[in-house]
Amino acid sequence: MGMFSRRKTIHVDSDVLVVGGGMAGCGATYESRYWGRDLKVVCVEKANIERSGAVAQGLYAINCYMGMQWDENKPEDHVRYARNDLMGLVREDLGYDIARHVDASVHLFEEWGLPMMRDPETGRYQREGKWQIMIHGESYKPIVAEAARKAATEVYNRVMVTHLLMDESKPNRVGGAVGFNVRTGDFYVFRAKAVIVCAGGASHIYKPRSVGEGMGRTWYAPWSSASAYALPILVGAKMTQMENRIVLTRFKDGYGPVGAYFLHLKTYTENAYGKEYESTWYEHTKELVGDYVDHLPVPTCLRNHAFLEEMKAGRGPIRMVTKEAFQDPHKETVGWENFLGMTIGQAVVWASQNIDPKHINPELTTSEPYVMGSHATCSGAWASGPSDYAPDEYQWGYNRMMTVDGLFGAGDTIGGSAHKFSSGSFAEGRIAAKAAVNYVNDLRNEQPMVSEGQYEDLKQKVFKPLETYEIGRNEIVAGTVSPSYLLPIGGLQRLEKIMDEYVGGISSHYMTNEHMLTRGLELLGMLKEDLDHLGAEDLHQLQRAWELQHRVLASESVTHHTLFRKETRWPGYYYRGDHMKLDDTDWHCFTLSRYDQKSGEWEMEKAPVYHIVD
Ligand SMILES: Cc1cc2nc3c(=O)[nH]c(=O)nc-3n(C[C@H](O)[C@H](O)[C@H](O)COP(=O)(O)OP(=O)(O)OC[C@H]3O[C@@H](n4cnc5c(N)ncnc54)[C@H](O)[C@@H]3O)c2cc1C
Repeated sequence: MGMFSRRKTIHVDSDVLVVGGGMAGCGATYESRYWGRDLKVVCVEKANIERSGAVAQGLYAINCYMGMQWDENKPEDHVRYARNDLMGLVREDLGYDIARHVDASVHLFEEWGLPMMRDPETGRYQREGKWQIMIHGESYKPIVAEAARKAATEVYNRVMVTHLLMDESKPNRVGGAVGFNVRTGDFYVFRAKAVIVCAGGASHIYKPRSVGEGMGRTWYAPWSSASAYALPILVGAKMTQMENRIVLTRFKDGYGPVGAYFLHLKTYTENAYGKEYESTWYEHTKELVGDYVDHLPVPTCLRNHAFLEEMKAGRGPIRMVTKEAFQDPHKETVGWENFLGMTIGQAVVWASQNIDPKHINPELTTSEPYVMGSHATCSGAWASGPSDYAPDEYQWGYNRMMTVDGLFGAGDTIGGSAHKFSSGSFAEGRIAAKAAVNYVNDLRNEQPMVSEGQYEDLKQKVFKPLETYEIGRNEIVAGTVSPSYLLPIGGLQRLEKIMDEYVGGISSHYMTNEHMLTRGLELLGMLKEDLDHLGAEDLHQLQRAWELQHRVLASESVTHHTLFRKETRWPGYYYRGDHMKLDDTDWHCFTLSRYDQKSGEWEMEKAPVYHIVD
């Protein structure tokens, strides 16, 4: 028995357990109540749902809205758009399913009090681009959280979920989850008939550009710690497209968004000599990807590619031409408000670097890679599709159920379905919840069996870093370096360095190959061995320790997928130096992986891409 086994264990039984109360989690909680009036719906969140997840700071635009009430777009149009942006590879059934439902969710946001901007002439929502509508969104997350709070039977804030539980009465069926309260240290055992994982994407698995005094500043939320992937991976759920990490072109040093600038303010980019540069790289890009370069809009990764090549040619920095647009006082206001509503840090960076975009064209840069499933990228779990639309091969049960029974997901968690953004993630949470409620109802009185042995073993494991630290610190007089434990920050920096140098991060210009990936896997293996000796001096560090565990597992998955796909499908996101060209003959497919916790082995396979929309 470890010295921390005396910690209090709190048991919570539920019908539907939602892990993560961000956009998808709030959607899932809200909808579980709608379909499951009498069910016990529990939402568990490591922060506080009031201001948690990637939308915590607010947003200035809702990036996924069809506008079907005004015949602006059809769901099929959105599928075509996402497919084109992802170089042909998306789960069209999942994308269509979100697109056909997303508008209703946006209308709910407005009903709940989210201030929408309207076009003064047409009275419609103010468009920023074909898919984006503009909002006064500083309070977007609290508004959405209120609906979830009212719908949930219970919300557990400040509880980090570390592992899923499995039903011992039936193979391959989920039984709930465990975690700990990051403030009190109480251990939680959540037994549930259905679990919906909505735990966001992954930042900080690659070394960020912001290090040293800028450390902690990343584009995706620093608290997005890959639990959405690690939790399902650990219990053997299949993952897809984990190699499809995303790199963002953003304002330098603050990662400020560029969407409103390009789309609404009509600003544009140029190289250091004031020249347009994308056309310079047209022939070169065509050599790599063929006709995809001629598609409109030009896929996000290919625009990054031209940016990177121009920088490598020595004609950087690349700047956003703001000086013209900012002469218009309305546009100047929109430009600043865009940051104040969602990335206030960029305004602070500009102020601190004497950049007034009215007089100086600000620099852009490409970010470190991130792993997520809801932006212009689609890493995540392999999920069953909608019964009325998905091909047979994509259907093995309930909508959005993973390859583990009773385990559902939404938002960044689910792979293959890019461009959901905040509204689509919320809508997907609702879709998953409706299916999860059906699953629970179909179980009738059947309860998952979770033995004391299962959760007590996990309890020992979860608190072990506190124990390791408590014992190990006696071996040193002062300082933070100990021969017998590894602090989470040291482990995180090692992870970021491995991923950066071997798996296509910023320092190698996103380049990797089989040799580098193989070495990367060896080093990740050594890091995993050392994770047994993680030391945590307090509960805050214990959370960091488990976030690191989740990040490492997700990184291993990314590396295996990158090794498996022998082509460069998304130049500008990453490059396989040994397979520099896109290869539609062999790789117009999804990559799938399955991790075996016992052996530590990864099984890789291909799955077909079905084009349902013409
Ligand atoms: C910088 C930035 C700009 C963006 N701009 C836009 C935009 O302009 N418009 C737009 O529509 N979308 C935008 N998005 C995208 C949008 O924010 C995401 O698509 C959406 O938030 C994804 O929803 P999610 O529920 O999957 O993840 P999140 O909303 O991030 O929620 C995940 C939740 O899980 C919790 N969690 C994580 N791990 C655990 C754990 N182990 N235990 C318990 N809880 C856990 C987190 O705390 C969090 O609350 C932007 C995102 C970022 C980062």
